[in-house]
Amino acid sequence: MFSNLLNRLTRSFAFRLSLGYLALFTLSAVILFGLLYFLLAATLQSKDQEIIVARLRECVAVYDTGGLPALQALVERNRVAKEDKSFFIRLAGWQGTVLLLTAPEDWVHFDSSALNRGGDVSRLVWLRLPKNEQSDFTVAAMRLADGSVLQVGRSTNNRSTLLQPFRRDFLLVMTPALLLGALGGAWFAHRATKPVREVVATARAILDTGNLAARVRASVEQTELEDLARQFNRVLDKNQALIKGMREALDNVAHDLRTPLTRLRGTAELALQTTPDPAASEALADCVEESERVLTMLTALMDITEAEAGVMRLKLETTAIDALLASVVELYQMVAEEKHITVVTDFQTPCEAEVDGTRLRQAFANLLDNAIKYTPEGGRVQLTCAVAAGRVVVRVRDNGMGIPADEQPRIWERLYRGDKSRSQRGLGLGLSLVKAIVEAHRGTVTVQSRAGEGAEFQVGIPVAKP
Ligand code: ADP
Repeated sequence: MFSNLLNRLTRSFAFRLSLGYLALFTLSAVILFGLLYFLLAATLQSKDQEIIVARLRECVAVYDTGGLPALQALVERNRVAKEDKSFFIRLAGWQGTVLLLTAPEDWVHFDSSALNRGGDVSRLVWLRLPKNEQSDFTVAAMRLADGSVLQVGRSTNNRSTLLQPFRRDFLLVMTPALLLGALGGAWFAHRATKPVREVVATARAILDTGNLAARVRASVEQTELEDLARQFNRVLDKNQALIKGMREALDNVAHDLRTPLTRLRGTAELALQTTPDPAASEALADCVEESERVLTMLTALMDITEAEAGVMRLKLETTAIDALLASVVELYQMVAEEKHITVVTDFQTPCEAEVDGTRLRQAFANLLDNAIKYTPEGGRVQLTCAVAAGRVVVRVRDNGMGIPADEQPRIWERLYRGDKSRSQRGLGLGLSLVKAIVEAHRGTVTVQSRAGEGAEFQVGIPVAKP
């Protein structure tokens, strides 16, 4: 179940969109943080250097004017005044002898040989002393006029003290920010793709239920996706109008053909009774049979139209559905026997409902007719009826050829015949009539089937008057 959900999620367009958004958001946040970090570090470094250089220049000026004693006096003055606490000042003669050294408390453990590797100090040079756990020192060195080297340094611990929380807090700040970004992204993506989901849901609803009136709820926003929904609705309007036109044309043709066909059949019947010629009799009998077939088709077509339009007149009476089904089974007993099909029944009694018995018999007869027709010799057909939750539920089940899943939504359409059913007699109107009659009773009819494994049709009719 979880993998199913994950699968659906990863295929979702909104999910991919939010994932992309989150990746972009994270990248920008990291870049922004990195930039801020380096800017801050650089600013702190240049501030430290400014302070060191100012101190160095002051010492150089004092040395230039008063020599070593003046510099010693300055250092001593500052030590007493506690101004030099964080400064390191070292003066080394041109041979490397240390002439003056004052250092902060945590400086003393440093390996002073690092200071002798100053290199060419004819200009101002910067030394970064090897860092240990607690300390980090920056030293500026400069050669004085008499060849000695003056080094002034300062602990830059304050820099790491400032930058460390910045680094540590990054994760602390980023976690909620990313969560917020992910949620925000998901919300935006979900909102933006709403019209697409609505289009898909509407298309699916139309295909599943055949309700051509379903439309996408498009908002007035002028985005491309809202426009897609509006254009989709326009296509649906056009389709619905076309289908309505086709149905009307079919109904009109059926209506107009009925009268001349009835007359044709009557005339052929009359001629059949009077003609002595056997060949003419045979031809006339064919005429009667064929016109009967076409008339049945036209009547079914018109019944479906009436029922679908809600104008089918139902003569509702309290009817024993079990008895009605038994009479239908009796009617088909012979046909079933011819195909060696066993018809098994299990009817709950009493099983009554307020229905139009004639119409409902027609519907059940169609279902049983199909079950026998589409089940090979020696098969089995089962009919059951029971009352449950205020409805009479009738099931017609067979173990015949079954209906492939892709055909199942279409079998209720007028004139639709399954690919493998063409070899059997039929007009493709039986199930449309069943559906129309059942729905005129405010009932439902559904099918469950797998190709090659038989089919089960279930009809549910409210017990009370619709
Ligand atoms: P038809 O005149 O072709 O029987 P229907 O409207 O009664 O027309 O049925 C439509 C299609 O549904 C059939 O052509 C057939 O493919 C399929 N069908 C209906 N009932 C069954 C069944 N019991 N078993 C297998 N297929 C069925």
